[in-house]
Amino acid sequence: MKGRIHSIETLGLRDGPGVRFVAFFQGCRLRCAYCHNPDTWSMGGGTETEAEELLNKALRFKPYFDRSGGGVTCSGGEPLMQPDFLIDFLKKCKAAGIHTAIDTAGFGIGRYAEILRYTDLVILDIKHVDSLGYRQLAGGDMNEFYRFADAVRKSGKKVLLRHVVVPGMTDGEKHMKKLKKIIESFDRVEKVELLPYHTLGASKYESLGMHYPLEGVQPMNPGKVKDFERQLRNETGL
Ligand code: SF4
Repeated sequence: MKGRIHSIETLGLRDGPGVRFVAFFQGCRLRCAYCHNPDTWSMGGGTETEAEELLNKALRFKPYFDRSGGGVTCSGGEPLMQPDFLIDFLKKCKAAGIHTAIDTAGFGIGRYAEILRYTDLVILDIKHVDSLGYRQLAGGDMNEFYRFADAVRKSGKKVLLRHVVVPGMTDGEKHMKKLKKIIESFDRVEKVELLPYHTLGASKYESLGMHYPLEGVQPMNPGKVKDFERQLRNETGL
């Protein structure tokens, strides 16, 4: 089965446990105002790749996975946008004894239960905590996120939750209270990571001749984000 891959990172250390082979899938329906990779949005971009070929590339790093407790992470773009290819690739990874993670905003087009059957860890980005904010910041209907979140709960798979804190958009006490509720709605949360918004992605927009939606928004104070994170951890016990 063929799919479209934007790029590959062979020795990733951030997206899941141990050393990771990260495949960035092409295509995304969201339009996050702070997206660092607008070049992954188009469904027709990237390079057409066979799942088998991608697996063979990942297998070269198997000794690193085995030594470090690592594996493969399907990121993007939005990996859920190519469900058939994703399932085929995850299945092949599992058959080869490789740990699998998906790094997702939970915004795909279905077949979630099947995708999750072959996924060991879900790295889930919570873009916003209410429908209006979700639409304004990420450009999508939050119900799709809830559909995926439900499938994750039913699957019983482990979750690492992420949230980007943007000044004046996804910060503040009230916002964190709502975020806490969403976090607590998952049963198997391994970890919660709050990430401070930064402006490093802006230059990419310039080079692509695109307008950067968050022009003028200052980077988030990392110390403040640490405080929010500490508070959330204390309150949720995570
Ligand atoms: S979900 Fe990810 S790839 Fe898609 S727009 Fe948002 S940040 Fe960009």
